[in-house]
Amino acid sequence: MIIVCEPRATEAQISALQQVVRQAGLQVHRSDGTDYTILGVIGDRGRLNRDSLALMPGVRDVVAVSTPYKLSSRDFNPNDTVVPVGESARVGGTDIEVMAGPCAVESAEQIEAVAEHVARCGARIMRGGAFKPRSSPYSFQGLGVEGLKLLRQAADRHRLAVVTEVMTIEQIEIVAQYADLIQIGARNMQNYPLLTAIGQSQKPVLLKRGISATIQEWLMSAEYILSSGNPNVILCERGIRTFETATRNTLDLAAVPVIKSLSHLPIIVDPSHGVGDRRFVAAMARAAVAAGADGLLVEIHPDPDKALSDGPQSLTFAEFESMMNRCRIIGTTIGRRMGRAR
Ligand code: PEP
Ligand code: MN
Repeated sequence: MIIVCEPRATEAQISALQQVVRQAGLQVHRSDGTDYTILGVIGDRGRLNRDSLALMPGVRDVVAVSTPYKLSSRDFNPNDTVVPVGESARVGGTDIEVMAGPCAVESAEQIEAVAEHVARCGARIMRGGAFKPRSSPYSFQGLGVEGLKLLRQAADRHRLAVVTEVMTIEQIEIVAQYADLIQIGARNMQNYPLLTAIGQSQKPVLLKRGISATIQEWLMSAEYILSSGNPNVILCERGIRTFETATRNTLDLAAVPVIKSLSHLPIIVDPSHGVGDRRFVAAMARAAVAAGADGLLVEIHPDPDKALSDGPQSLTFAEFESMMNRCRIIGTTIGRRMGRAR
């Protein structure tokens, strides 16, 4: 349930309410909005008497929250969450943050060329996989720690933040040393021990939607991270599996406004894995911006036909530059900014 405080509730009244909740053995989560404060109550609400709470001074309303996710719900926190990534990126604010780079880090030359181009086009975050969740055990699995080092060095040379994936709990520590944002891939969205472990770290997390996950299941996964102590979660729509085979996945752009209404967490869109074909990526990137996404995750490669992973969906440098320019125009028309080309 949530306790909505009166706009003029005093600090003493709010603390008294928090105390009553805690004394009942429940957790309380406070959120200060521009007009009023909301107290989210987590735990067995049968332990609290709703009528007597409603009569306490400073209380405007006591409302039952019927969704199973609490900390990720818009009811618990009406203000949009803004997640800082690295020195200058802020995901969930006015700016649209673009994360671009290869599916996998392949060499020093490749990642340097990408970093230079990503920065020049005005993006602030570079992606690149070092530990790759490949569908086939015979496919390139990533450069591991060597890949993380190359990614970090190239990003630093061009003042970019870094996002990269972890696949196991054991990898979290080392990946956290090199990354500003840690990606949980679609295949691991329901790996609950991994979600709990990442929740115990303080690094921002990019939580991709599972291949067949409903929006509620996705928010429940975010709930694992938030309830383990990490408030910095960004959701990423990357397409879901449907009967359609013309595209690699079916990019569910309706998830953007739906998530915006259900949750305060920022949401970005990955059109690359969403469609799996570079001819359609830019169109879906533009549509994502128009739909209100807080950012984009896009695969690019200096020579996509030679890429060791996901070449068919990777944009060339020229295609990425054009995508950025057109997304920037759409962003401007809906009151959002995108980093300026350098
Ligand atoms: C990726 O970002 O390269 C990736 C493997 O994505 P997903 O987990 O969405 O398939
Ligand atoms: Mn990929």
